[in-house]
Amino acid sequence: MTKKNHIINIKPEPTEIARNIFQEEEEIENFDAKFGKILSKEENDIRKFILRQSPVLGQIPSLEHIKKVFTRLSNEKIDAILNKLDQFDIIHLNDDKTSIAAAYPFSSSKTSHIVTMKNERYKKIYSMCAVDALGVCFMFNSDVSIDSHCHHCKDEVKIEIKDNKINYFKPKNMVVWYDREYSCCAAISQCKNINFFSSEQHFNEWQKGKPRRKGNLLQLQDAFYFGKMFFENRLKN
Ligand SMILES: [Zn+2]
Repeated sequence: MTKKNHIINIKPEPTEIARNIFQEEEEIENFDAKFGKILSKEENDIRKFILRQSPVLGQIPSLEHIKKVFTRLSNEKIDAILNKLDQFDIIHLNDDKTSIAAAYPFSSSKTSHIVTMKNERYKKIYSMCAVDALGVCFMFNSDVSIDSHCHHCKDEVKIEIKDNKINYFKPKNMVVWYDREYSCCAAISQCKNINFFSSEQHFNEWQKGKPRRKGNLLQLQDAFYFGKMFFENRLKN
C-alpha cells in the first residue's frame, strides 16, 4: 500500500459544537489571569519571561535562573509570585515548590508531544497535551511541527503548521480527546488525558473497559481552534 500524504490548509475555525464547548470552558478558565490582565506588572513580567524563555532553553527555566534574571526582586518575593501563578494555574510547581513542572503549554518532563518551532532561536520542547501543542504556533507566531503518537496504538502522529494553518498531518483520520475532568489544576487532572488518537475507532478501543470520563472527541480542526483560543493571547498583555 502506498503512503498518502495529505496536503491541506486547515484554519483554526470551529464547528458549532466546538464553539459551544469552548464557551463552557471559558467560564471555568480564568483567562484574565492566564493572559496576564489581572496580574501586577512584576507577576506578569515573570509569567511572560517563563513562557518566552522556555523554548529558547528547550526547557522551563529553573527557579535559580529566574532569580538571577530578576535581581530587582528578593527571592522571597519571587517565590510568592510563583506561588500566585501556580494558584491561577498559569504554571504548576512541583510538590516541594522547588521547580516549575508546567508552564502551559510547556512541560518540564517528557510527554508524548514534541513541539519544534521553525526558528533557529528555539529548541524542541515538550508540550503538556495535544491542545497545548496546537497552541504554540499562535503564541509565538511561528511555524511549528508536532511529533506525537496515537494514545492507543502508539502509531506516529505528525502535524505541520505554517502561517498558523495546518498544511500537513497524518494519520488522516486523527482525532483529539479533549478531557474535561478538571480538578485542582490542568497539569494533574486534564493534561495527560488530552491526547491524539489515530482514529475515532482507536479512541473507542482505548476507552473500552475504562471508566467514561467527561470530555469530547474533537476533529483536528476543532482542537486547533482550541489551541488558538487558549494560547493566542498569552503573550499579548
Ligand atoms: Zn491508534
